[in-house]
Amino acid sequence: MPTYTHRCPDCGEFDQVRPMAAAGSAARCPDCGATASRVFGAPALRGVDPGLRRALDASAASGDAPAVVSSVPGRSRRATPVTRDPRHQALPRP
Ligand SMILES: [Zn+2]
Repeated sequence: MPTYTHRCPDCGEFDQVRPMAAAGSAARCPDCGATASRVFGAPALRGVDPGLRRALDASAASGDAPAVVSSVPGRSRRATPVTRDPRHQALPRP
C-alpha cells in the first residue's frame, strides 16, 4: 500500500499508509483527530534503475554546482586513431 502525506492545520504533516482506493477520502490526524488535507509531493524514485538514478543525480548536481574543468571537454587528439591507408590522404579536410 502506498504512503500518503497529509497536513493537519494544527499539528503539521504526517504520513499514513492507506489503500489506493482510500487515497481521495479525508484523513484524520492521529494526534488531534482533525480532518487533514492531502499533500502532494515528488514521487518516490526507489524503484528507478540504478544507472538512471546516477544520471538523474549527476544532472541535478551539475545544475546546482557545475564541475570546474581545465580544458574543453571532448575527445583528446591521442585517442583519435591514425590511419596509414594512402587513399585517406585524398579525403577532404575540415
Ligand atoms: Zn492534528
